Amino acid sequence: MALLTNIDSWAGKRVFFCRNREILVDGQGNPAELTPADFPPDAISQACEDTLTGAVGVLLAPGAEAPAGSRFIPTPYFFHTHDEQTNALAARMKGFAGWLDSTRFCPYCGHPLQLHATENALECPACGRLHYPRIEPCIITLVSRGEEILLLRNVRDTAGIYACLAGFVEIGETLEQALRREVREETALEVENIRYAGSQGWPFPDQLMVGYYCDYKSGEIRIQESEIADARWFRRDALPKIPNPGSLAWRLINGCFDK
Ligand SMILES: [Zn+2]
Repeated sequence: MALLTNIDSWAGKRVFFCRNREILVDGQGNPAELTPADFPPDAISQACEDTLTGAVGVLLAPGAEAPAGSRFIPTPYFFHTHDEQTNALAARMKGFAGWLDSTRFCPYCGHPLQLHATENALECPACGRLHYPRIEPCIITLVSRGEEILLLRNVRDTAGIYACLAGFVEIGETLEQALRREVREETALEVENIRYAGSQGWPFPDQLMVGYYCDYKSGEIRIQESEIADARWFRRDALPKIPNPGSLAWRLINGCFDK
């Protein structure tokens, strides 16, 4: 990876412009094909090129405005409207740009960090320590009980969407332990027969979602009210509003990993 200090060098490259949780798109909803000259100089906070893919990630300042003909859309909506390969690249570049922007100083000695010559890492010229992009593993699971599946509405949801149960893995836990704990905490249910399904990088800001199917074992739903607004069993032929295509939750709910 290389920091783009010469902003002419991204001409002709695949560029993802990001701002907060949004991605800049053109009139057709595709990544906006713009150049640094389309933005005022103070609009660009960070720009980096990925040596593996050749793509460029640009982090725009929180107050940056969309140039004429382009607009910002929420990244989950971007995922909803693009293929898996484009989504993975967008997540990667958004993640890199955000990581560089939030990791400017060595957490051990406070010295400004610089990019490592050959690795996707930052190194501290003062104490020599290397700092790699942080990835936070999360589990996401679809719990089945016969013909029914468990879906939950988060307290922060304002769109009436019922999604799969998910949560962060704690230090020292296995993914399976984290899954059982999260299910227990959020619904008071016990589950069994945990099967790996698939995973997805989720750059909000740096999660890796690890998806599982599992089966109901015992208990009655008792929601964790600080996190969950509602949790219910739904028949597959009578589903509520669910997360959009492009999300791992959608693929779990639609059985994309069954084959
Ligand atoms: Zn240091």
